Amino acid sequence: MKADIVSIGTELLMGELVDTNSAWLAARLPPIGIELQRITHARDDLDALTDVLRQAWERSELVLTTGGLGPTDDDLTREAIAALLGETLYVDAESLERLRETFRRRGLSTMPEVNVKQANLVPSARSIPNYNGTAPGWWVERGGRVIVAMPGPPGEMHPMWESHVLPLLRDRSDGSVILTRSLKTHGLGESAINELIAPLFHLPDVSLGMYAQAQGVQVRIRAHAASAEDAGRALAPVEAELRRLLGDNVWGADDDAPEEQVGRELGRRGLTLAVMESCTGGLLAHTVTQVSGSSAYFLGGIVSYTNEVKAAWGVDASLIREHGAVSPEVARDMARACREAMGADLGIGVTGVAGPDELEGQPVGTVHIGYSHQWGEHHVSRRFPGQRAVVKQRAAVQALLELWELLRSNPNFHA
Ligand code: AMP
Ligand code: MG
Repeated sequence: MKADIVSIGTELLMGELVDTNSAWLAARLPPIGIELQRITHARDDLDALTDVLRQAWERSELVLTTGGLGPTDDDLTREAIAALLGETLYVDAESLERLRETFRRRGLSTMPEVNVKQANLVPSARSIPNYNGTAPGWWVERGGRVIVAMPGPPGEMHPMWESHVLPLLRDRSDGSVILTRSLKTHGLGESAINELIAPLFHLPDVSLGMYAQAQGVQVRIRAHAASAEDAGRALAPVEAELRRLLGDNVWGADDDAPEEQVGRELGRRGLTLAVMESCTGGLLAHTVTQVSGSSAYFLGGIVSYTNEVKAAWGVDASLIREHGAVSPEVARDMARACREAMGADLGIGVTGVAGPDELEGQPVGTVHIGYSHQWGEHHVSRRFPGQRAVVKQRAAVQALLELWELLRSNPNFHA
């Protein structure tokens, strides 16, 4: 089944409200085999909204809408569906009674007259109860096509989806499933990956895609099949081939996070970690400690923002004088200093320029990450594009992915 989502409300087109409803719904369609074709935002204007709904209705067997079911004059979803179908609105007695009952339960003796329109129906529509607000939803069915109109507030839309809409859609579904598997990579850019995996594009039963994130490029395989088993069977050989082509650049899959991967590996080997951070200001330590049980391997972190504090924690002041605080030499010495200060097996030092101004003549986004351990030391240097917060985030993620790489390529590193 093909679907369209229409998110309704002028506030969405003014940049005042972020449309989380469509993303929430979009994530729930693949498991029931529904292929989303398009997401549209429509403003609170009868003609504009009717026009958007008409296009969605012509494109897809299923149209999901959120918003515009309120009692006020700018909430026009019911009116637009009526106009699209050429049907006449009438007040449904049963819905009206339920609405009055809702107001009574809230201790309000009289219901404002404007709310009457929330009891409206058209002949092709059934009302969907809303236990968390006043606006009932609509299930509209005509000519084998369906429009589901749901309220805008997520606190009303989510439960309505779970309790009513999802079961009704399951009943109509052919049992097919869209399965996705994401492989998370590190160290390769999008074009390099594209070149590597080019032979796998245009396979008959699966589709491939990729997108870049702070964590590296994700390669996504998607299969639409008659059952979850069939979809799994279609994905498996492609995943195996992708893993072969991408080799050690794959560090995880699906919901894996770098801090979890690294934590598992440190824990398994009985190794401990200490960090000293300058430009990331504690973000690396924060990320590491997002994992519950990280105290088994993470000893602690030092935020050494100034040269004086770096030196006070044992960083060689002559290296700072000679090479500057933002240098590979200082990053490595920060790693050594925190490792020694805490008696850790591994130390990481991060120094860089988060921006927006350059530092010591080094351009914004320059980051040096040093690693120190009993087997030796090394560093990586990167230049990240983006704003201050992005540079800090990418530096922290990079520090972890590089640690993962260090561990993976050195299976002999054990406590
Ligand atoms: P409405 O049903 O159009 O009166 O929407 C009422 C409220 O629901 C809005 O003021 C928002 O707080 C919320 N809302 C509506 N549409 C969305 C959306 N697409 N994503 C997230 N929240 C929404
Ligand atoms: Mg509205």
